Amino acid sequence: MKRVLSAALAACLACAPFGATSQEAEKRPDAWYPRTETLGPDEMFVVALGTGMPTPITRAQKSSAWYVELGNGDTFLFDVGSGSTENLFALRPDFARVDKAFLSHLHSDHVGDVDALWVGGWLSGRYEPLHIYGPSGSEPRLGTAAFVEGLKMAYAWDIEGRAGTLPDRGGMLIAHEFDYKGENEIVYEANGVTIRSFPAVHSIDGSVSYRLDWNGLSFVFGGDSFPNKWFVEYAKGADFVVHELFYGPEDLETFLGFPPRQAMQVSSYIHTPPEAFGKIMAEVQPRLAVGYHSILVPEMLQSMSDTVRETYDGPLVIASDLMAWNITKDSIQQREVVSAERVQPPPTSPEYATAPRSGEAGYSDFINAGKWEGFTPPPLPE
Ligand SMILES: [Zn+2]
Ligand SMILES: [Zn+2]
Repeated sequence: MKRVLSAALAACLACAPFGATSQEAEKRPDAWYPRTETLGPDEMFVVALGTGMPTPITRAQKSSAWYVELGNGDTFLFDVGSGSTENLFALRPDFARVDKAFLSHLHSDHVGDVDALWVGGWLSGRYEPLHIYGPSGSEPRLGTAAFVEGLKMAYAWDIEGRAGTLPDRGGMLIAHEFDYKGENEIVYEANGVTIRSFPAVHSIDGSVSYRLDWNGLSFVFGGDSFPNKWFVEYAKGADFVVHELFYGPEDLETFLGFPPRQAMQVSSYIHTPPEAFGKIMAEVQPRLAVGYHSILVPEMLQSMSDTVRETYDGPLVIASDLMAWNITKDSIQQREVVSAERVQPPPTSPEYATAPRSGEAGYSDFINAGKWEGFTPPPLPE
């Protein structure tokens, strides 16, 4: 297996403990540090940016978001839930490449940080538009295009106020809405990457799941769903399969204080409780089954995993934020992102610096007249 070794990894290999096998020596370090590694040309890299709930959005677990980077240089986000861009920035990625997000459905815990990605990414290196892929709804106002138009309306003041300062095109937000009823239909195809969508059963019409295929590797992402036949069929045999793993009804009563009927409805009629997650994965048989979408506390983690194990005995991870995986045809290595609490945005590129900036945000005479004469700014550089 050939790998592009980073300086950090090479240094680690040099100090590998005496007696380490060559297999162990080839492993990357358990800790992943931002901007210290190069992804191998055949590798897929996945980070759980958000694995939690709409509320409470704890410091430990943001709402749903998954980062996928491929050895060909492409980067994709699946969901951009509330709070998740904090963990995205913790990776210090090249924001010029973080320009495509695929939304599973329009609940805030899956889309609540699209605004932060849009503006934060634009400030941090993206000089081309941000593309938002997502399903239609049962009527136009409930679809992804309407959501994106609504964001543009809500943030008109924000975007207008940055004219002339930031690259023009980086402020563009482009919706790519597709039919939520499409069954395994291609919604994205470029650069050897194919992404298909299939329906999910959640809340109201207009939730979907995705499957990404590239270079013989596959990543499947389920947003929220009651167990559904499409997932069982189209996720089958994939390498890395993410599906919601929700609180069981008793756990909802215990940890969220839901009354019994409400707990049963939410856990087992709208979402996928641990028993059903196990049954799905027993059918799908992935190389790695990954569950998410509950605020994990130790005793619940145990009961959840025990319940999954009643119906599924294959490889399993119950994900927490900033778990990461390097995936090749030979191995899936689980790792952990280690990043500073007070992280700075990544450096921007020369292309970002020279991208056209036109227009000019300005003030009325009234506000202009309010500028205090006690401060004169230095002249602007060319
Ligand atoms: Zn959700
Ligand atoms: Zn939802």
